[in-house]
Amino acid sequence: MKKYLKNLPQEIKNLIVLAEEVSRETKMPAYLVGGFPRDLILGVKDWDLDITVEGNGIKFAENLAKKLNVSLVKHERFGTATLILNHRLKVDVATTRKEVYPSCACLPVVSPGTLKEDLLRRDFTINALAVSLSTDASRKLIDIFCGKEDLTAGKIRILHDLSFEDDPTRILRAIRFKQRYNFKIEPKTLSLLRAAVNSGLLNKVHPHRMRDELVLMLKEKDPSAQLKQLYDLGGLSFISNNLKPGRQVYGLFKSINQEISWFMRSFPFHGSFEAWLVYFAALLRQLSLVQSKKIIRRLGLSKQEEKKILSCRQINRRFIGRLKNKQIKPAQVFNLLKPFSYEAIILLRSVSGDSVFKKHITDFLKIYNCVRLSISGDDLYRLGVLPGPKYQKILNKVLAARLNGSVKNRQDELALIGKIIK
Ligand code: ATP
Repeated sequence: MKKYLKNLPQEIKNLIVLAEEVSRETKMPAYLVGGFPRDLILGVKDWDLDITVEGNGIKFAENLAKKLNVSLVKHERFGTATLILNHRLKVDVATTRKEVYPSCACLPVVSPGTLKEDLLRRDFTINALAVSLSTDASRKLIDIFCGKEDLTAGKIRILHDLSFEDDPTRILRAIRFKQRYNFKIEPKTLSLLRAAVNSGLLNKVHPHRMRDELVLMLKEKDPSAQLKQLYDLGGLSFISNNLKPGRQVYGLFKSINQEISWFMRSFPFHGSFEAWLVYFAALLRQLSLVQSKKIIRRLGLSKQEEKKILSCRQINRRFIGRLKNKQIKPAQVFNLLKPFSYEAIILLRSVSGDSVFKKHITDFLKIYNCVRLSISGDDLYRLGVLPGPKYQKILNKVLAARLNGSVKNRQDELALIGKIIK
């Protein structure tokens, strides 16, 4: 693996050297596992590191955190810990474990295990590679299931025939990795995957686990392709049997994709914007309000997520028609769009290519939404207005005038208040 590791950023090379030191000092064999070796071989830049340790993962992580002088979040119950180095780089440390599935689609019984057992519990050969960090075999690739060969051939392959029955979320994972890397699902794996979908295994998994995998799918680069593949395989039934995305939904997904790219470029500091939610809201628009609410609750989405998704339902023909009007004033555009979340606004921008409509939304995001009044409630108080709901009404009127350009500065704003009070 030395030739692959050579090209890593210095920061990661240093980290690996320190992990090797910790492995030597604590006498605990450690390995880089999961997505890191996979993406390293593929030449994909993904700097999240997963280290698994034969011994005590938390102790290992404590030693590594000390050497790096960074903080550590421990998850004692799972024997894992996370080191946060900076916003780009995260290291997860776990203890090697074995998993036994007591019955189909149930959570496994977990106990400490060897590296081999830890690799055997994984989803696909390409995700079951390990790079040794121990002195005697340092930086050697451990490849029990010929994962490197599958990586080179572009194949997604499960490790044993009962894999999808043990954990049906792997169905979504298989599709996700296939689409992400433009791989093929190996024929036997594909036939077992189809059989698992057909026997309704996706409906046996706890909905919250399905939601997590679905969200990961919608966070991929091309959610439209992900969704199409999942639907074609019959895999959307865990959300609803009534979901039948056709050309229109895939087209909408493509346009959402472009709008999200535009939004990210134009507003890099977008706070709590959740791109996956826009896709999910677009998908649920096919269903009734009652059905959508039921799904949202079953999947355990948060109140905030529910609110954002449901607000997207107000986007209807009439609403769109109003925004296509060239004559509409800035304050009216502001009042129409202000109640919506950024997610709903992006969905809105995706539903029509009309240039006037798009310009109104762009102006809202870039100009109107950034306008701040120079006056405040204090000014109203000084002018003798008694505090109450009136304040908001007056300030809204001044804001509308400011947006429409009839007042331009503090003096104008104060003059307008004077008029309003009279
Ligand atoms: P990504 O690039 O999307 O983060 P990843 O492979 O790092 O991909 P994670 O979900 O972080 O994905 O999982 C880390 C590793 O844990 C995987 O590479 C795989 O070996 C294992 N794993 C995760 N989920 C499962 C699962 N449901 N069944 C078996 N192994 C899994």
